[in-house]
Amino acid sequence: MKLAERLSRISEPQTIMMAKLSRELKAQGIDVVDLSLGEPDFDTPNHIRAAAKSAIDDGHTHYTPVAGIADLKKAVVHKLKRDNNLDYSPEQVVVSTGAKQSLANVVLSLVDPGDEVIIPTPYWVTYAALVNLCQGKIVTIKGSFEHDFKITPEQLEAAITPKTKLFMFSSPCNPSGAVYTKDELEALAAVFSKHPEVFVISDEIYEYINYDGQHASIAQFESMPERTIIVNGLSKGFAMTGWRLGYIVAPLEIAKATEKLQGQFTSGTSSITQYAAVAALINDTSTAVEMVKAFRERRDLFFDLLKDIPGLKINKPEGAFYLFPDISSFFGKSYEGQVIKDSSDLCAYLLHRAHVTTVSGDAFEEPNCIRMSYATSTEKLKLAAERLRTWLAKLQ
Ligand code: PMP
Repeated sequence: MKLAERLSRISEPQTIMMAKLSRELKAQGIDVVDLSLGEPDFDTPNHIRAAAKSAIDDGHTHYTPVAGIADLKKAVVHKLKRDNNLDYSPEQVVVSTGAKQSLANVVLSLVDPGDEVIIPTPYWVTYAALVNLCQGKIVTIKGSFEHDFKITPEQLEAAITPKTKLFMFSSPCNPSGAVYTKDELEALAAVFSKHPEVFVISDEIYEYINYDGQHASIAQFESMPERTIIVNGLSKGFAMTGWRLGYIVAPLEIAKATEKLQGQFTSGTSSITQYAAVAALINDTSTAVEMVKAFRERRDLFFDLLKDIPGLKINKPEGAFYLFPDISSFFGKSYEGQVIKDSSDLCAYLLHRAHVTTVSGDAFEEPNCIRMSYATSTEKLKLAAERLRTWLAKLQ
């Protein structure tokens, strides 16, 4: 069968592939600890579920406007003022089927073949796939372990060329967990102020999962709102991964472009989800606060359990729910004839021997690391740490 050429430019996300492998082993009766997927293990708070039930009972079961119901767009504007002190109008909001679709809408609306898109590494898998789909040229900026995988203004300046169309990043970052401080963002914004033709996608989906302080958005600095597209969603902060709701706030022209595209792709996202999202965004974020407290405890626990495992080099991240250790010291080592050549080999070894599922750093363009999600119970984290210690020690 001859499928369209564009499919050869993307592959199945490794995160999803590892979770699939993990489920297969579980189905064979193997007790696997799955640290591969990026989703809270909490259930959606009750008041949000109640709003969805009322939406069904009240008959909100029809198509909605493509960009979202008016109440939800207003709720997003309210949230941006309350949490980020940012002023937007409802016309600048476009609601989509997950932040993944929001990102796809924006990249498809902005990137033409040959346009350069700067993405600091490590980055979330989907960013590169979307740029490749549009035949854009990915320009990476290498984040270093020593600098907590955050880039400097000098690195950014050096990467910008007359062909640069877009810069995309996440803070808090998936996979590194790094969080840019307000000062660091301000310094990056100062570079962008010299290049007004470059757009910025600021993926803030982990906004609430921040352990060290108030979330900062690059959109809050002068001249940034007119070229910044904030991407956010409810999956992580409200434990709503299955509901599929993401949104952007953007300069009006970009908001309209993504609405046009979405009108041909999916139309508005689920009406029921949208009513639930209003309840999530207009109420206080205390449930998110409770969840973050648990994530912080787990981060501290898992970090403490792993930090002195010989061969693991590990930073303590300030946000999201991942550890991203450098495991390159294991390259070239082996166990029973199985040689670990790279991070994918190590992930396979950990899955089949230790029965712990992780994701190779290759997936995030950082081949010396692996990603482990700690969005799971403390019992499972303890078990995973014990297994990792045992099986890593066997590599000689
Ligand atoms: N951005 C980042 C950085 C993510 O980690 C994720 C989910 N893993 C998303 C966007 C997409 O989230 P969703 O589509 O569930 O809203």
